[in-house]
Amino acid sequence: MKSPSDAGPDPSAPSAGGRALNGRTALVTGGGSGIGRACAEALAEAGALVHIVDRDAEAAKAVAADTGGVSHAVDLADTGAIDRLPADVDILVNNAGLQHVSAIEDFPPDRFELMQKVMLTAPFLLIRHCLPHMYAGGWGRVVNISSMHGLRASPFKSAYVAAKHGLEGLSKVAALEGARHGVTSNCVNPGYVRTPLVEGQIAAQAAAHGIPAEEVVSDVLLDRSAIKRLIEPEEVAAVCVWLCGPDTGYITGSSLPVDGGWGAA
Ligand code: NAD
Repeated sequence: MKSPSDAGPDPSAPSAGGRALNGRTALVTGGGSGIGRACAEALAEAGALVHIVDRDAEAAKAVAADTGGVSHAVDLADTGAIDRLPADVDILVNNAGLQHVSAIEDFPPDRFELMQKVMLTAPFLLIRHCLPHMYAGGWGRVVNISSMHGLRASPFKSAYVAAKHGLEGLSKVAALEGARHGVTSNCVNPGYVRTPLVEGQIAAQAAAHGIPAEEVVSDVLLDRSAIKRLIEPEEVAAVCVWLCGPDTGYITGSSLPVDGGWGAA
């Protein structure tokens, strides 16, 4: 007998006769800005009801208003707050993240710990929180917005690289455990995306090196990238929605670079 995960495209899925994600419920962390916002918009566009979780209450509310979704003002560093989020979601996008750039010997330990909490412990707790509903329905999608820094390291980003490498491991374990319940888990691994997070890094580097912002983009950030432009958040969101669609039930435990050839160099 076929298990849910090897059953192929499911004609009885809510997608039949409508938008691919009609009837599905999604939860996107960090949905108030950048990639998370683009994912929330794209999932809503595909028909899902989207819960937008962000510590920035106003941003979450604005995205909820735009997408017909529901906002939740939650700081994911407060691990207790995760239990109060909805658990009846079919699609979980672990996206919220933050950056801090500093040599290890100067890296503030409390900042390191905060980044592990938001980018690794919170995804673990959310997966744990949502899996029972996904397992009960025999279908679920976990999309972890990792980074090329989940696969490669750069100096001065110890907390970020450590958290993203941890997320890669967590995602693979969720894939192995979820397979027989029809639940896939994958990482999406962008290079540099045009979002407030990266704009902050560009401004900081321009100030530190005394060079124009455009030079930071072309000579520092995109030095290794074959495609010499930043990625747009919508391009990452399109991969996220594809992973939740009807044709990708066999893709699990994977890490999908969206990096303009950065990793190939
Ligand atoms: P962003 O700063 O535009 O958005 C991040 C969102 O997460 C914000 O709305 C912020 O309020 C929220 N957030 C941060 N800490 C939170 C917390 N403790 N609780 C709740 N919400 C919190 O950043 P982005 O560039 O869109 O990044 C989103 C994800 O994509 C991150 O995980 C990041 O590591 C990853 N990523 C980004 C890039 C890039 O180049 N921008 C590249 C690879 C991976």
